[in-house]
Amino acid sequence: MNTHSATRPPEAAPDTACGTAQITLSGIERVFHLGDSSVHALAHVNLRITPGEYVSVMGPSGSGKSTLLNVLGLLDRPDAGHYELEGRDVTTLSPDEQARVRSLRIGFVFQSFHLVPRLTAAENIALPMVLAGIPARERETRVAQALAGFGLADRARHRPDQLSGGQRQRVAIARATIMQPALLLADEPTGNLDRATGEEVIRLLEALNAGGVTLLMVTHDAALGGRARRRILMQDGAIERDERLLVTSPATPHEVPPEKPSEKPPEQPPATVAPDARA
Ligand code: ADP
Ligand code: MG
Repeated sequence: MNTHSATRPPEAAPDTACGTAQITLSGIERVFHLGDSSVHALAHVNLRITPGEYVSVMGPSGSGKSTLLNVLGLLDRPDAGHYELEGRDVTTLSPDEQARVRSLRIGFVFQSFHLVPRLTAAENIALPMVLAGIPARERETRVAQALAGFGLADRARHRPDQLSGGQRQRVAIARATIMQPALLLADEPTGNLDRATGEEVIRLLEALNAGGVTLLMVTHDAALGGRARRRILMQDGAIERDERLLVTSPATPHEVPPEKPSEKPPEQPPATVAPDARA
């Protein structure tokens, strides 16, 4: 019933990182109870993210990275604290209202793709639009655009088990972005891919970020994590470090062409301050 137009809703935050918060987490707690014991998966997390940021989330296994992303993606509710998304407290919304915000504003990419096995690539990509009530004709147009844009035009009728890992993840990214979300959350999106395919997927996500979408990506890989302009390190459910990196992104290789060695530019300081960004 909601006819969502192809343009961003008016409440979309300005695209410059002028200080307007897109996301504000204050005092977020998430505790899982298992029998007698409890796990503090998120412990007093405060976080502020502005529109268009590219943030990597790193930290050891069990440190709360997925829980943080699930809370941000409205897939999980915190036990305490507040989550403000685009100026609105989304922690107090009903499940239906949360589903609507998720549908219109948030895309989620998972390590194991989470595609619907019996649906084709095209049908998987169309799914969020079906759920949002977008008319069939518009769905077809947008799916065709997405398939072409993600290099999947010749795979439209393939089911997930007929696709490679990289193709599956591209379908998943197309599905996650078909509603033109303002926020893209990726939980170890390259975890099931070989390095070369993983890098392709990262470049896709980075291109989407360059187009304006805020990107939060969990990764184990220091080299990948170091490509983001901001890196959050989690430990025992808390944000242990939050550092901004001056990155010359390997995603946009502006390598000096080796044509004129005599006109070498003057020595420049290394543009990255990430000591361990490249191993
Ligand atoms: P990470 O993604 O950093 O590996 P998680 O966010 O998945 O960590 O988990 C953080 C902690 O919360 C871990 O100790 C994990 O075992 C626990 N946890 C996560 N989800 C659940 C759940 N649904 N039930 C119980 N414990 C959970
Ligand atoms: Mg995880």
